[in-house]
Amino acid sequence: MGKSLNTSRQDFPILEQLVNDEPLVYLDNAATTQKPQAVIDQIVSYYQHDNANVHRGVHTLAERATAQYEAARVKVQQFINAASSAEIVFTKGTTQSLNWIAGSFGPTVVQAGDEIVISYMEHHSNLVPWQQLAKKTGAKLRYIDLLPDGQLDLDAAKQVIGPRTKIVSLAHASNVLGVVNPVKTIAALVHVQGGYMVVDGAQAVPHMPVDVQALDADFYAFSGHKMLGPTGIGVLYGKQALLEQLSPVEYGGEMIDFVGLQESTFKELPWRLEGGTPNIAGAIGLGAAIDYLNQIGMTNIQAHEQALVAEALPALQAIDGLTIYGPQEASQRTGVIAFNLDNLHPHDLATALDMEGVAVRAGHHCAQPLMQWLNVAATARASFYLYNTSEDVQALVAAIQAAKEFFQNGTL
Ligand code: PMP
Repeated sequence: MGKSLNTSRQDFPILEQLVNDEPLVYLDNAATTQKPQAVIDQIVSYYQHDNANVHRGVHTLAERATAQYEAARVKVQQFINAASSAEIVFTKGTTQSLNWIAGSFGPTVVQAGDEIVISYMEHHSNLVPWQQLAKKTGAKLRYIDLLPDGQLDLDAAKQVIGPRTKIVSLAHASNVLGVVNPVKTIAALVHVQGGYMVVDGAQAVPHMPVDVQALDADFYAFSGHKMLGPTGIGVLYGKQALLEQLSPVEYGGEMIDFVGLQESTFKELPWRLEGGTPNIAGAIGLGAAIDYLNQIGMTNIQAHEQALVAEALPALQAIDGLTIYGPQEASQRTGVIAFNLDNLHPHDLATALDMEGVAVRAGHHCAQPLMQWLNVAATARASFYLYNTSEDVQALVAAIQAAKEFFQNGTL
């Protein structure tokens, strides 16, 4: 303990700036999060004092770098309650983790005529790899429908998941609708059928306590940069017995035991899957991010975001002409709110908000099938994190109101 949410904002130097002469209100956390000084310092310190390649050298710096890299792996293991650090593989991020599962594990369990099940709310990185696997194997890619308010339709899931289902892959939390999916329930459904549960945790691990064993997820993917860590580092969690079945996607240095002219033998998990020099500073930075999150506590972070949504949602709902996607009850949502204002293009809306210093995203959010389901081309999206405040919520609401007046009357 020691850190509180009240003081956390001061730990993020980037937030202390003006954008277009207004204090920066950063609400694009679903895309990427800002870094506390502790994470920045840890990365700098590593390069200043300890930089060396891991696992190979016997010299002091190599041992220090290896110790820090492996300590980061244990932090990740404990953070998501994996049974062993051998179940934590460092990757570039969620996209790479999901591609490895679909590309390497997928073909070992999916055959022609089998079914792979996802939902309409998936991010492209939890959709396109499965499309590719379906194409290569002759399997069918099936979609679980959503309820009118955007929540996963559990009855539809029970219909779709059946004896042919080999893999179900779902977002734990949506990057657009702000809903949390009942992963544990779905995992039980697919396990009864002898299939595997893959989870895209990119929008969950940064925002709520996650226990991969309690969820009974077979694989779980997430990214460091969405949880205060650096870009270019992410995690593939897998149950050890399943990771053992995964062929490395990359062969080369760091992952071998013995190399002969025609045959090689490989290291044990998790190193067998981490070919080449890994993102050492990235992993160490992610470890520092986890330390920071732990000091505040994931339950506190979740409650804080919940309070921001409880404040933002009614205020946004009160703006005439503003459509909010996903459940209309704050208690059913995470800190992601996608919206459109009248017939305004969301890019124009986001540009107008930026004039007020408010950073939101506009576009399809890498979820084009979901946009089709919502019957829109794009949306604007505000997304909160632990350093956002009630003032940020008020600034968002005021900026949307100002944009509305500007586009209606030509005055800003
Ligand atoms: N899944 C979801 C739900 C996401 O929000 C994102 C990031 N927008 C990703 C996957 C992909 O993450 P990354 O780009 O870090 O690989």
